[in-house]
Parts: sequence; structure tokens; C-alpha cells
Amino acid sequence: MTKENAKILIVDDNEMIRDVLEEILSMEGYDVQCCSNATEGLECGHSDPPDLFILDITMPDIDGLELCRRLKSDPATMDIPVIFISGLIGMEEKIAGFKAGGVDYITKPFQNLDVLIRVKTHVELRKKTQILESMNEWLEEKVEKRTRELRLAKESAEKANNAKSEFLANINHEIRTPLNGVLGMLKLMGNCEMNDDLEMYHNLADFSARHLSAVFSDILDYTQLDSDSMRFNYESLDIHKLVENVCLLQREHAQNKGLELKWELTGDRTEFVCDEIRLVQILNNLLGNAVKYSNKGEITLRCHLSDDLNIEVEDQGVGIPSERTEEIFTPFLQLESPYTKEHSGTGLGLAISRNLCQAMNGALSVNSKPGKGSCFTLKLPEQKARFPKPPVEHNKGGAENLRILVVEDNTINLYLLENILEAAGCRVFQALNGEEAMEELEASDPDIVLLDMGLPRKSGLEVIREIRAREKYRNLPVIAVTAYSHKDDLDRFEDAGINAVITKPVSEDVLIDTIMLHSARD
Ligand code: ADP
Repeated sequence: MTKENAKILIVDDNEMIRDVLEEILSMEGYDVQCCSNATEGLECGHSDPPDLFILDITMPDIDGLELCRRLKSDPATMDIPVIFISGLIGMEEKIAGFKAGGVDYITKPFQNLDVLIRVKTHVELRKKTQILESMNEWLEEKVEKRTRELRLAKESAEKANNAKSEFLANINHEIRTPLNGVLGMLKLMGNCEMNDDLEMYHNLADFSARHLSAVFSDILDYTQLDSDSMRFNYESLDIHKLVENVCLLQREHAQNKGLELKWELTGDRTEFVCDEIRLVQILNNLLGNAVKYSNKGEITLRCHLSDDLNIEVEDQGVGIPSERTEEIFTPFLQLESPYTKEHSGTGLGLAISRNLCQAMNGALSVNSKPGKGSCFTLKLPEQKARFPKPPVEHNKGGAENLRILVVEDNTINLYLLENILEAAGCRVFQALNGEEAMEELEASDPDIVLLDMGLPRKSGLEVIREIRAREKYRNLPVIAVTAYSHKDDLDRFEDAGINAVITKPVSEDVLIDTIMLHSARD
């Protein structure tokens, strides 16, 4: 809209005024239309809306103020500016004009130039407002389109992430189950008579299977941390005892390389709420690396417990170039070239350790000089214990004669569990699927159930729900023995009534300890 084609509608009962206004405005290039009364003005304005109204106030049928109010309530004309042109010169009239919706007020007799300037100002204002409105509309459309695209992208990323988590949960289950069989059978084989050659082959196979299991656990831990699906179990720990136990174990490795490992325990207290398994994992990684990457000197662990837990692990080993100290926390990154590397490892240990610290709101950093050694610093704040620790009634009588129902569809794992349990003196009953489990439960009246959660037809979850639904089994200890380790899975098992979870590959010690802990028998 330019000045030349801007449309102006004049409503005035005075013909002379109409003619003067029409003449001066037409000469300026406006497209002018005139009406001699308000009713006509309303019709014209509605059917062919102008860009500006000029209204007289005193008119015979409807006065200009009322006409303005009606124009302002009609959606077709409500946004069009109205200028009053009137012989009423009092302040009250002017205020009434603005209240009715006018944007300007010109008094008669008027100066032509005054009218032209005011009309020009309001026509231009309207033009700019219209441009702004259309830009706003365009922007809103753009934002809406972009929001729609982002929503779709987010939905597809969530789908991909869910698919990844599902894939990992499945692959985890599929690998852990046979790995459990391999490790377990090697363990049983270790109890058999073997000649020297067989014993060496057995030891090498056992070492390789353990290594594979550790590598696989690292990959799984890393992906769980990355997708925020790792579950932490916070409980009150005796930190000095825990650190000492880790150091005693690592001292053996250090001594094998001719290194000395020392530890210093200080602070105002020893109890601290943290995740035991994860803290031990971080300390083993730091101490293991200190041993691995040192050929001489001492390794010192300093542990100080006040409000937070502060631990330093210092070595006098090969050290790290200063520009690479952050790189070593990158997953899969190792400073040694893969073609000439002397040390084994996946390059995941420090990435996992740092992510574990961060997931527990702590930090892990390093200070190092090539040839002079490294010092790793771990800081962890105290956590809130998940549940107040229940008073545990330990089974002081051992596992002998405990009646145990094992529900497991994998025959190798079943055989393995049976062997471990029978060696501990337990009486074992078996069920190969969920349906058999319920029948066998009635028939064998067990002290404890070991339940695989991934079963054909009727899942472990369905089995535990059915067990808990029967009054007489409400307090029967049921331990899940499973390859599932995702946070959501474990939460679901516990919510359904599982008392404890043992993840595959099953360690004989963990299995027997857990059974003893949950069979409250004197
Ligand atoms: P891995 O030890 O399995 O290679 P880590 O993530 O634990 O993986 O360590 C990553 C890299 O950081 C190692 O490959 C090594 O190059 C370097 N590194 C870790 N700890 C030390 C240390 N104490 N001294 C020197 N280099 C280290």
C-alpha cells in the first residue's frame, strides 16, 4: 500500500467539507470515497474497507462517535484508524473521540496542510503496522513449522535411543547367558583331575573367558552410563575398611612388578554413604592403571574423609604429556599406539570411572608429568542411602539342607547352578519354565527360589507376581538370577517382589552369600 493507492473514506453530512477534503486528498494521490451519513458509511466501510476513516461527529442519523464504536466492533473495520474532524472544539469532545476509538482529532475550520500531515502519518503508521503483522504471521508460521520439525526429530531420536537400549539389553542377555555357561563349566572343570597340558589349556581358557567377561562388562557399563540407565545402590560403608581391602588386593599385583603400594587413611569419620560396587570399581581402575603404567617406584593412595570423600592415587610411572591429560578420559582412547602397545585394556576404564564419579555428582581429574608419574584425584559427595539398611538376619547355619527351587530354561546354566548348590549341601529342585515353576513350588515347598527372569512363555516377572499373589508365599525369598542389568529392569523386578538380584555371569561366592543372607534360618 503506497500513499497513491491508500483508500480513504470520508463520512460527513456537510457537502462542502466533503468536497474540500476529497479535493485536497485526491490531489495528494489518495483514493477517496465519500458518504453523507453514518448508515451509508457503515455499509461502505464493511463492504470495501478503506485504509483510513475521516468522520464528522455531528451528523443527523447516527453521530460520528457511535459510528466509530460500531466500526471498532466490526472485525472487517476494527483495525482501521479513525480521524475525527469536527466543529466541537472542547477537551471533553476530544476525549470522547479518543475513547470511542479514534486515533486523531482535527477541529474545524481546518488547515489543509494540517489534515494532509495527519492523514499521511496515520496511513504510514497503518502501512507499517500491516507489514509488522504480516512479518509476525510469517514468523509464527516459521516457528510452528520448525517446532513441528523439531518434535518429529526428537520423536525419531527417542525411538532410535529406545531401539539402542533395547538392542543393548537383548545383546547383554544373549551374551551373558552363554558366557555364564562357559565360565561356570570352566570352574567345574577346575575341580576335575587333569594332566599338566590339560590344566594349562584350562587355565588359559579360564583367563580368556574372564578377560572377555571384563571387556564386555566395561562396554555395558559405558553404554549404561551414556544412556543414563545405570542403577546405583547407596548404602552406608566403612570407607577405611573398603579402601584397605582394595589396596590389599592391588598390592599383590604391584609386588609382582616389584612396586610398593602404600595407603594413608585420614579424616574425622569412617562411615560414608556411597555405592560400594562402583567405588571399588573406580579404585581398582586407578590402582590397576598405576601398577600397569609404572615400572619403578611407589604407588600411594591417600584417602581423606570429612564432609566429602577425597582420594588421591599417585604413581611414579611413565606419566602423561600435559596436552593429553584430558584425552585419557575419552572412551576407547589409549596413549600407546595400537600397533606397538605393551599393555592390554579397552581404553574404557577412565571414561567409565569419570562418568561414574559425575553420575554420583563427583569429579575425577589428573595431574601428570611424562617420566615423573601421575596423580589422579577423586572427589565424591555423600549420597542419601536408598533405604535405611534393614536389620539382616544372617543364616548362621550355612547352606546345608536348604531346599532350593531353581527356575532356569538354559540347561547349561541349570546344570551349573545345581552343581554349585549341591556342592554346598543344598537340596535342589528344578523347573524349566514359568508354568513348571508354579507346579514345582507347590510340590517341593522350597526355602528359597532362584528365578531366571527371561523364561519362555511365562516370564520371570509373571512368575514372581503369581508367587506374591499367594498368601503363603508372600514372604518366600525369591532371588532373580538374570542377565538383565538395566536400571529399569531391576526396578521392575524389585517392584514385583524380588528380594535380591544376582547378575550373570554368576559368581559362586556371591550366589552362596546371597542365599545365606536371604534364608533367615537359625
Ligand atoms: P586402559 O588402561 O584400558 O587403556 P583407561 O581408560 O584406564 O584404559 O586409560 C586410558 C589411557 O590413559 C591408558 O591407555 C593410558 O595410556 C593412560 N593412563 C591411564 N592411567 C595412567 C597412569 N597411571 N599413568 C600413565 N598413563 C595412564
